[in-house]
Amino acid sequence: MDVVLSRSPQRRARLVQWTIASGVYVGAATLLITGVGQGWMNTSALMLWLAFVFAVLAAGYAALRSGWTERFRDPSVTVWQLSMGVLAVNWGYLICGPMRTSALFPIMVIFAFGAFTLRWRQIAYLTVLAVSSLIAAVVLRYIFPSWVPARGQVPPLRLDINNVLMLVVVLPALAAIAARLSGMRRKLRNQREALSRALAEVERLAVSDELTGIANRRATRVVLEREVAMSSREGMPFCVAILDIDHFKRVNDTLGHAAGDDVLKAFARHASAQLRSFDTLGRWGGEEFVLLIHGNKECICRVMERIRHAVADACLATCQVTFSAGVAQHRRDETAEQLLARADAALYEAKHSGRNRDVMADA
Ligand code: GH3
Ligand code: MG
Ligand code: MG
Repeated sequence: MDVVLSRSPQRRARLVQWTIASGVYVGAATLLITGVGQGWMNTSALMLWLAFVFAVLAAGYAALRSGWTERFRDPSVTVWQLSMGVLAVNWGYLICGPMRTSALFPIMVIFAFGAFTLRWRQIAYLTVLAVSSLIAAVVLRYIFPSWVPARGQVPPLRLDINNVLMLVVVLPALAAIAARLSGMRRKLRNQREALSRALAEVERLAVSDELTGIANRRATRVVLEREVAMSSREGMPFCVAILDIDHFKRVNDTLGHAAGDDVLKAFARHASAQLRSFDTLGRWGGEEFVLLIHGNKECICRVMERIRHAVADACLATCQVTFSAGVAQHRRDETAEQLLARADAALYEAKHSGRNRDVMADA
């Protein structure tokens, strides 16, 4: 198999396609040869046709198997193969006398194959070639009637049988093309699903903090800018708090960095659990978190109180973890930077006045 079809998967696929085409050619040729036996066909005309078909198949095999066609944009040389098929069909129409109608059946295979590999211009070209060469065949039949034997009448049953046999030759090739099409569709669907799963994961990673799973700095900033704009426009009260864990270096130093990570995760989990659905807690960096609250100072103080209790009750990592916070309420027309700067200054004050407390900016 490796010798006949080669080891390269792409080349192999092209040669499998060639084999299907050859199957149709061989089936059709066999039917034509039986026609000679019945005296409906001119032997030398058939020989010429067989020589053409053999030459096309041999040239196609050599070109595909050697890899020579891989220099072209379409290494299957589909247009060439299908053009030769169209010519063989119409040539068959010319020479096979009373059986000529069924000789046209293989054209279905050619166009079915073309439909899923060719661009519309190539299909238009094939259509023109098919119609014009068929007209040429009709004209030639009348100019050179000797090519078409006049001997005997075809019994209607023989004609019917011939049509059935021709369909038997053509349909398996059509079925093979249909199977390939549905395989491609399935592959496409699987790829689309894998792609949307990957996209959802990328979107999740883009907005969430790797360690704690809450909003990362970028996502928090997006919410902050949006809330600041809305507060400026509509005057809705909006507050920001910067939370910083107290003496976190000590946690790392005494319990290790991994335990420090666990404290950060637990802190994020317990603090998030105290929020309403429209509030946001994001990890700003290190052991600093930013809390965005819809509401006024009283509102954020209540939330901070809940968080403080929850964190104290949780007794994170078997050690008492506290945090300090700087809180600022947005003033109309204040930028996000200015708002954060006021909260940061309040945090500094909270640290310097003993930690484990909230300080309201400009209080
Ligand atoms: P303060 O009360 O003044 O805030 O003291 P602090 O020890 O918390 O001071 P500082 O903010 O300077 O130290 C923060 C430490 O947090 C330093 C750094 O090693 C640690 N840290 C930052 N990010 C991570 C992290 O992702 N995991 C762990 N385990 N530690 C982190
Ligand atoms: Mg810090
Ligand atoms: Mg700290």
